[in-house]
Amino acid sequence: MNRTPLAHTRFLSAQDVAAIVTRMGAATTLKRMADYIHEDFLRWQDFDKCARVASHSAGGVIELMPISDAATYAFKYVNGHPKNTLVGLPTVMAFGVLADVATGVPQCLSELTLTTALRTAAMSAVAARALARPDSKTLALIGNGAQSEFQALAFHYLLGIEEIRLFDTDPAATEKLVRNLAHTALRLICCTSVAQAVRGADIVTTVTADKTNATILTPDMIEPGMHINGVGGDCPGKTELHPDVLRGAGVFVEYEPQTRIEGDLQQMPQDFAVTELWRVLNKTATGRTHESQVTLFDSVGFALEDYSALRFMRDAAHELGMGEWVSLIPELANPKDLFSLIRPVAAPTLSGTRYATAATSHADKRELALAA
Ligand code: NAD
Repeated sequence: MNRTPLAHTRFLSAQDVAAIVTRMGAATTLKRMADYIHEDFLRWQDFDKCARVASHSAGGVIELMPISDAATYAFKYVNGHPKNTLVGLPTVMAFGVLADVATGVPQCLSELTLTTALRTAAMSAVAARALARPDSKTLALIGNGAQSEFQALAFHYLLGIEEIRLFDTDPAATEKLVRNLAHTALRLICCTSVAQAVRGADIVTTVTADKTNATILTPDMIEPGMHINGVGGDCPGKTELHPDVLRGAGVFVEYEPQTRIEGDLQQMPQDFAVTELWRVLNKTATGRTHESQVTLFDSVGFALEDYSALRFMRDAAHELGMGEWVSLIPELANPKDLFSLIRPVAAPTLSGTRYATAATSHADKRELALAA
């Protein structure tokens, strides 16, 4: 797959993305994706940004996440349905597009379910590299569902985390995680409560799914110097942290207008102070101020991370020759003659001439070619 036709779109299926990660290795994939995210966050001002557009229903949410700079436009379609696993579907499913701003041509159409797990984990690591104590070695991982192994690996490969304490209300989810990561050098410890998992941890990731104002972490569990990576509170009415956990921490966010609506921050008054992470990354704001400060990354998932993730997957697919070209956009000899696609044309067939559209005459040509 080496040609790059003008109006053709590179399609990456879930299998293609899985193959890219397998060939590149999880460590390299996560490191490179984190580099793409970090690089784009340093260009924060170049982007036309908005909070995502959410369509809420009783069981979940479907969201559109657009963003663009002068050259490239991206959007992601993503859902969040915490009860989906009961009917055999993932809680989070996604796909997205990367398009050329100059012409509007969609350049890459990709699955983003697996990619979202990778980019969320890479984003968590980018934030933790900037905010957690540099000597962090232990992680508590609360919620051991679809996102969890990616979180574990990102903290292992990008921050040097050696031990992970696991808790999920569903013990089968924890057993699955332990099986999936048995091949790594990580020390995995199964715990029987959130409090047990969190005790003594340098970093705590909450990545649970429940459409409710949960209090997974309460102030009594928080120890001086901890970094909290709150991933599962990402929708109105869906939070994970007791409000006093936010009051006791330095709070960092992706895009403040969106996090005020969706993050654990939704529980706090409008004037509650937070810092956008890009300012810490470009060193115009302070991250952790001292060893014993508690820092909190109130992650909700921002469109720029998907822009970076799509950019990375497109480049990786190009390097490895993966994916296929699809015709999302019609190919036209005359771009003003869209009707030519359906205009009846005289087509020779085995049984004589008949009138067909360009599409059916293509099928007739194949029939003649096969008969020849
Ligand atoms: P999942 O349904 O596969 O896993 C969620 C797990 O949480 C389940 O195993 C469930 O048993 C567990 N859980 C629920 N309540 C719990 C509790 N009180 N204590 C401990 N465990 C509990 O979902 P997933 O795909 O892993 O996603 C997890 C969460 O992360 C979701 O809320 C999703 O919306 C969110 N998410 C956020 C981002 C982001 O960028 N911030 C990106 C992707 C997903």
